Amino acid sequence: MASSLSGYDLHTHSLHSDGTTTPGEIVREAASLGLEGIALTDHDTVTGWPEARAAAADAGIEFLPGVEITTRFGHRSTHLLAYGVDVSRGGLAEELLAVRDARHSRAQEMVARLAADYDIAWETVLAEGDDRTVGRPHIADALVTAGYYPDRSTVFAEILHPRSPYYVPTYATDTAEAIELVREAGGIAVLAHPAASRQRGPVADAALEELADAGLWGVELEHPENREDWLTGLREVALRRGLAATGASDFHGAGKPNRLGDRTTDGETFTQIRSLVAVPR
Ligand code: AMP
Ligand code: FE
Ligand code: FE
Ligand code: ZN
Repeated sequence: MASSLSGYDLHTHSLHSDGTTTPGEIVREAASLGLEGIALTDHDTVTGWPEARAAAADAGIEFLPGVEITTRFGHRSTHLLAYGVDVSRGGLAEELLAVRDARHSRAQEMVARLAADYDIAWETVLAEGDDRTVGRPHIADALVTAGYYPDRSTVFAEILHPRSPYYVPTYATDTAEAIELVREAGGIAVLAHPAASRQRGPVADAALEELADAGLWGVELEHPENREDWLTGLREVALRRGLAATGASDFHGAGKPNRLGDRTTDGETFTQIRSLVAVPR
């Protein structure tokens, strides 16, 4: 089928974290939509790269290795996209392991709290394997499977949000420290969805300035959940500080309404990323 899409979708999730499709399925769907390439950016893990890389070679599109790091700026939850990192360099792999370990304990604690009111078991939450990065979406899926709620988004809205009594916070890396780890690993760092509507407000302009000082390379200004009216100041800072602007869908398969290729990054920016990083493909 002919397609109107083009460009590079640089933010996608597979079954290696909280997406619902395999890395290969994401790549093949991207190719069939007409996209020129994708980055796989599972939360805090790089285990999906080999499958995505092989599938991209087969499908004739480009693959950029990525990872979305669970970070914080002060008390604010942030996500940092790292592209082209060589995880054998510096302390990045160890930090990702610490974040995944903390997620595991945190999810278990949330399930323990939920078990007081719901028929939910840790084994069901981990049904698809112990090796993926676990998060609230997997808890949501278990509650959907058990018939309590119709879909992930409803579970989040009702009982998994940060003000819920079942919510437990999880360890997150300081954003500036994460940027340093990404740079040590030969990658570039892009601040994900800085104006996501689910947050109380956008990342502060002054915070973006501080992260630019810390070596941030780009900002995900095009993201389906960014609120346009929250982006004005961030666009201005990005322009003034020479930060690149990226675009991506944050595809999670059936786990979120975000459709693959809904937002994209242009070829010039993609080529620039490739030229800068330790692991460009
Ligand atoms: P966690 O990583 O455990 O903090 O959970 C956050 C993840 O849940 C994000 O990466 C999103 O993929 C997902 N998420 C957040 N809000 C929603 C929602 N309303 N519906 C579906 N997924 C969501
Ligand atoms: Fe996610
Ligand atoms: Fe994110
Ligand atoms: Zn994401």
